Amino acid sequence: MPEGDTILRLASKINERLSGARALASIFRHPRLATADLSGRVLIGATSHGKHLFLNWDDDRSLHIHLLMQGQVHLGRRPIAEEWRRRFEIEFEGKTLTGVDIPLLHLIPTSKTGDFIGHLGPDLCGALDLDVAIDRVAADSDAHLGAALLDQRNVAGFGNVYAVEVPFICGIAPMTTVGTIDGLDALLSIGAALIRANARLGPQNTTGRKLSTSDQWILGTTRRDCPICGSILHRRSGSNCPWNRRTIWCEGCQRTDDTVVDIQRAQQLLAMHPARKELDFGGDFGGSDLFVGNRDPVVTSRR
Ligand SMILES: [Zn+2]
Repeated sequence: MPEGDTILRLASKINERLSGARALASIFRHPRLATADLSGRVLIGATSHGKHLFLNWDDDRSLHIHLLMQGQVHLGRRPIAEEWRRRFEIEFEGKTLTGVDIPLLHLIPTSKTGDFIGHLGPDLCGALDLDVAIDRVAADSDAHLGAALLDQRNVAGFGNVYAVEVPFICGIAPMTTVGTIDGLDALLSIGAALIRANARLGPQNTTGRKLSTSDQWILGTTRRDCPICGSILHRRSGSNCPWNRRTIWCEGCQRTDDTVVDIQRAQQLLAMHPARKELDFGGDFGGSDLFVGNRDPVVTSRR
């Protein structure tokens, strides 16, 4: 599933190539939008919040797009997907914007965009107030960490890549309940730094080893053993996971009886990732005084 960093990069790409462009024609193959027409309208720009994408037009309408698990947006040539799968096609001079397998599509007054994102937590890739995000994730102390990171009402933007990789980087098992985690603020700061760095630099990458690829520590690999300690990696399919998503963890590095965020481990695992520049790990690895972005303090120890 495209996560918040991927959607922000898509919005940026659309803005670079199409902001101010006039639509020459449009076709919608979606029951709700069968008669919609954007021909003649000028695209003011694209915006995003978490995984939600909005194309904002000069007649005060916005096309709301959510890709869920399977949707794709193509910019440039028309993709080869069958016609019925191309849920929208918007023609511009020399370019086509095509939505393939888009499950959620609405054409709404721009003033109503809040109806789609008002319930969401802070946008991890936007103007983030991490204190609010921490409070929202911490509010349900019995929630499993993996589920709490995926709940867009807590924070908007994390998908399964971050729900698996951030706990691994921090040495916390994904089924740990958030109320028992010592250093949840640091864990969220690290996750925010990762997704924000990936949104800025792309592609989505959690290791920093091969930044031009979507390299991941454990989720996107077929390896059976942990790349850090060599223990067997545990895997659960979505149907066997309490939060219905595929999950992977290392019982050696992510022991269920150790609920303290391992700052030193996170520093080591992020040593090659640009996200490290957004985090001031300090000198004592005590989980205190982490910083994100322009060195404005967003996480300080509450202990
Ligand atoms: Zn391990």
